[in-house]
Amino acid sequence: MTTLLEFKHVSKQYGSDTKALSNVNFAVNEGEFVSVIGPSGAGKSTLLRCINRMIEASSGEILFDNKNVLAINKKELKRLRTRIGMIFQHYNLVNRLSVFENVLHGRLGYKSTLAGVLGIYTEEEKVKAYGVLQILGLEEQVYKRCDQLSGGQKQRVGIARALIQDPKMLLCDEPIASLDPNASKVIMEHLRNICSTMGITVVVNLHQVDVALKYSDRIIGVNKGTVVYDGTPEGLTKERLHHIYGSELDELLDSNGGLNAG
Ligand code: ADP
Repeated sequence: MTTLLEFKHVSKQYGSDTKALSNVNFAVNEGEFVSVIGPSGAGKSTLLRCINRMIEASSGEILFDNKNVLAINKKELKRLRTRIGMIFQHYNLVNRLSVFENVLHGRLGYKSTLAGVLGIYTEEEKVKAYGVLQILGLEEQVYKRCDQLSGGQKQRVGIARALIQDPKMLLCDEPIASLDPNASKVIMEHLRNICSTMGITVVVNLHQVDVALKYSDRIIGVNKGTVVYDGTPEGLTKERLHHIYGSELDELLDSNGGLNAG
């Protein structure tokens, strides 16, 4: 198995007193589906955003394809970001533009500023945009404005925009936190399929433990900025869940002690 991503002693401090990550170490293999779980404020979002440097880690090393992303220059960073697709809780689409135009935005990282500003895309890119929209079941929505879509459809556009980048890895920051259970299931199944059939590594932050258990090859549990679990879904006993969630665990369990769906 080849390691694609590795955190070595990564810490992140905001201001003078908020330690969001403390000495985080873990590795992700190529083609793995990894969920990062933990209570609110644990550092999940910070951890994910340090990978493509949307947030700058304070210390340590983050290796992607054997390169320390914390030490690369601006040009290398632009290239790195084409290889890492990002999916957001609130989709980050341009609402007044069509689905098709939003997907093509995923190619901007490959273009000069001028070609990007002028919206010049090749025929090949347009064919590819249509292809990814088909994979995501959006062929009927291609020319709709994004503000006419449901939340679940918007998130599928977000995934299409990430896929057209030809990424090696997808980072998904709470991709289903704004969606109902049905739309959430559709999104998680697309992500799982993308990982299994295209071999794209997926790292996803999730608040819902039951969802993480169902779809992941591996789970990383974070509490107060440190990794307290790194292992299989099967190995995540109630005791270990308690270690991750502390008193918040009760809210995640139903009256029979099972996990609440959704
Ligand atoms: P999670 O995604 O698990 O909810 P976050 O990574 O968003 O956790 O936050 C981890 C900690 O860092 C929290 O204490 C949060 O308040 C703090 N934090 C996050 N972003 C900032 C920021 N931009 N400035 C200051 N503190 C922040």
